[in-house]
Amino acid sequence: MSQVVAPGATIGIVGGGQLGRMLSFEGHRLGYRVAVLTGGNKDTPGGRVADVEVAAGYDDGLAVQRFVGLSDVITWEFENVEVGLLADLASRANVPVRPGGSIIAAAQHRGRERRALMAAGAPVAAFREVATASGLLRAVADLGPPVIAKRVRFGYDGRGQVRLVSADQTAARHIIETIGEEGLIVEEVVPFDAEISVVVARGVTGEMTHHGVMENVHVSGILDTTVTPPVSVGPDVAAAAVDLAATIAGHLELVGVLCVEMFVTGDELVVNEIAPRPHNSGHCTIEAASTSQFGQQLRAICGLPLGESSCRPAAMVQILGDLWDDPSDRGPAWDEAMIDPGVYLHLYGKDEVRPGRKMGHITCIDSSAERALERAIAARRRLRRW
Ligand code: AMP
Repeated sequence: MSQVVAPGATIGIVGGGQLGRMLSFEGHRLGYRVAVLTGGNKDTPGGRVADVEVAAGYDDGLAVQRFVGLSDVITWEFENVEVGLLADLASRANVPVRPGGSIIAAAQHRGRERRALMAAGAPVAAFREVATASGLLRAVADLGPPVIAKRVRFGYDGRGQVRLVSADQTAARHIIETIGEEGLIVEEVVPFDAEISVVVARGVTGEMTHHGVMENVHVSGILDTTVTPPVSVGPDVAAAAVDLAATIAGHLELVGVLCVEMFVTGDELVVNEIAPRPHNSGHCTIEAASTSQFGQQLRAICGLPLGESSCRPAAMVQILGDLWDDPSDRGPAWDEAMIDPGVYLHLYGKDEVRPGRKMGHITCIDSSAERALERAIAARRRLRRW
């Protein structure tokens, strides 16, 4: 049986966020239809540009059945969902789910994720899985402070984690009660020189491509800037990072795209997280590569050959809701940002603005990553009216 899902078919996207929105744009460009399962919200960033928005919970059997019925292949833009029902209904209806549900289940739980990474031979920070206050105290003593405690599920953008230099019984109990209801992982703080990521795509035949290495800076746990090629990582480490990402994708038998986030300390790499979907750090590939991370996801899940993916020097800066905090209430100065004709502005169509919420991003391409970053940061600065 051919594994190709040909243009004209419907891509089912689990999740209603901006990643699905950008995948929808790619799908439409190639003549696919798109159905989005939002998890409950209406008028989502993804749903607004899809052909059909199924605004229902991931555990709503009838709605999931309808979504599966609309889809010729199902993929993910969000991994924090109950996988079982969806995978089961899709399997009964013979609709391929790419990447497979077991990869999503591993990525959504930090303990399972660590075990999958270790099974793939990837280096990870020393860690302990704990479920109780006394377990947490033992882990702090074993690993030696400082450590970071992270909730095993539903933690993202630095949410659901605390850094500890010491702990007593009361503090440990408080941490368990607030973020540890499903368990925690406690890990050593990695004294990294840089944070990088690699987005690798793997097709149904096992062929792989990548966009090279992205160098990322987080502010308050949220990705703030990405540049490619990396400015503080040499070619050997960059090559090792790409190899590592490809090894993990191969080990997982992934079909789709996988982002592997890593810490770099000297020449050493430590994998922090994986996301089996396009990633914030890959947004610059929309302009920097002939085939973006979204284009590769689409090609991979549809069984099409992967595209050319090498990147020109580029930078991405995030636009957060904080930029709307303008006393004059006029919102960001888009026209000012766009005075530079090389500014690529992306907005995700979110009506509700909140501090820390990702509202959009800016990408610039230039002769070097440093120049691209300067331009992107200058454009973001011009958005601020005060
Ligand atoms: P995460 O939610 O695991 O992606 O963490 C968000 C950010 O917190 C990372 O991008 C790092 O900047 C920082 N971080 C997380 N874990 C560690 C660690 N073990 N050592 C040092 N920094 C960390």
